[in-house]
Amino acid sequence: MSHPHPELSAPPELPANGLRVIPLGGLGEVGRNMTVFEYDGRLLIVDCGVLFPDDHQPGVDLILPDFAAIRDRLDAVEALVLTHGHEDHIGATPYLLRERQDIPLVGSELTLALVNSKLREHRLRQTPFYTVKEGDRISFGPFDLEFVAVNHSIPDALAVAIRTGAGLVLHTGDFKMDQLPLDGRITDLRAFARLGEEGVDLFLTDSTNAEVPGFTTAERKITPVLEQAFAESDQRIIVACFASHVHRVQQVLDAAVKHNRKVAYVGRSMVRNMAIARDLGYLKVPPGVMVEAKELADLAPERQVLISTGSQGEPLSALARIAQRNHNFVHLEEGDTVVLASSLIPGNENAVYRVINGLARLGARVVHKGNALVHVSGHASAGELLYCYNIVRPRNVLPVHGEVRHMLANGDLARQTGVENVVYAEDGVVVDLVDGVAKVVGKVECGYVFVDGQSVGDVTESELKDRRILGEEGFVSVIVVVDSVAGKVSAGPEIHARGHAWADSDFEAIKQPIVDAVNRALDEGSTDTYQLQQVVRRTIGRWVSNTHKRRPMIIPVVVEA
Ligand SMILES: [Zn+2]
Ligand SMILES: [Zn+2]
Repeated sequence: MSHPHPELSAPPELPANGLRVIPLGGLGEVGRNMTVFEYDGRLLIVDCGVLFPDDHQPGVDLILPDFAAIRDRLDAVEALVLTHGHEDHIGATPYLLRERQDIPLVGSELTLALVNSKLREHRLRQTPFYTVKEGDRISFGPFDLEFVAVNHSIPDALAVAIRTGAGLVLHTGDFKMDQLPLDGRITDLRAFARLGEEGVDLFLTDSTNAEVPGFTTAERKITPVLEQAFAESDQRIIVACFASHVHRVQQVLDAAVKHNRKVAYVGRSMVRNMAIARDLGYLKVPPGVMVEAKELADLAPERQVLISTGSQGEPLSALARIAQRNHNFVHLEEGDTVVLASSLIPGNENAVYRVINGLARLGARVVHKGNALVHVSGHASAGELLYCYNIVRPRNVLPVHGEVRHMLANGDLARQTGVENVVYAEDGVVVDLVDGVAKVVGKVECGYVFVDGQSVGDVTESELKDRRILGEEGFVSVIVVVDSVAGKVSAGPEIHARGHAWADSDFEAIKQPIVDAVNRALDEGSTDTYQLQQVVRRTIGRWVSNTHKRRPMIIPVVVEA
């Protein structure tokens, strides 16, 4: 990726008493959130999440923040604060800990339980955990941290106030301001106000929904819609939602009890996360409602509810496999109801509609965000953000967590409330807070780090470009044998193509021009096979482009005999 700010150079030395903010992910995209704070030579990290790849990154499993900027200074890291348990905030933690295992992790009970199950999968066992809750204050080196309850689409989310000699920073994490949340735990605006009175020097705020006017709809409004879907169904119901959305699962469990149905989870992450949420008391499972997925199949269809992963159309998820009729034991029947109780993350549209079409083709009634209120966002809309700015009255604002358009909209809201200094930054852009003023001072190296199977960071943007060309344009291989003594082509070219409706005979017309071009290059003194291969590549490349209007990957092989 080319850096969006070519005009910036490396940041200058951080002045004494200055606080440096280095975003390594999440500013410019929704995903892989990670922000580094530096004070007096010490570092504090807030969040370490993943980004899921889209159609432009074929074969990539995950995208991580780029740790390059701090890799040589991991010893200076005092702690990693995790604001909540969503993948875009905790998912890259094992990859960071692989580089230094004893970085202290700080977060709420549920957040740390969710991250701990990941660490165990990665066989990481030496990481110290500091469990905190709202109101707690704890110091790591020069960073004095205070935690504030925030309401979000996962329980136990926290905002963090960071006090250093440079002033007071408030980072909201992901939040919204549902005033009647299902668990009664609201965003603590009284704490926001108290911090505002003390004087917030830099306010980092969630930009995700800054373009959405008004207020995010309350979670409670979904209950009657779910109830209705249950009331109207006389067959099996499948509800797909995020594997971390404890409150949504709670709503489904409650509806199931009311309608005399039993529930089973399908999908590994759903089973694992809901066990954690139940054990810690965040999910209240009514007695007798849960059964194993295989037992559920023995019940009458009108008594079955499945809660499944795959609401984003992930191709290997339970729901996608059900839609393709290749799930081990869930076979959809005509008349079944499928509820997609989740948002549509930008970039996933095609995959989600593919799944919806697959389900509809099998005769299911599909209830989704497009035709019923079965999901509300987890993020504050413009109205809520305005309240926050008016309550906190920050000196400087740095919009975070969003694409560029979201961050610009968020900054605009801050300005409307009278915030004088709004600083815009993207991944890698360094912001210093010095003498109460925040400003962009430079940039650090910050690219995409791709995880592909077991490899981390080995796949580069140029290999992805090759994959895209292979996927979209196919490839053509050309083999030419050269007699190096006689100085001319002695056999070939042999041409094979894949990925297009080409017969090998389609290439007859270009064979002689390739021979001529190679012979000419040999006459002119080229003997290096690499140079001759470039001659072959150019000759056939131009021809394929002109005659077939395609740009396949061309693999020329020149062999000396
Ligand atoms: Zn979140
Ligand atoms: Zn997030």
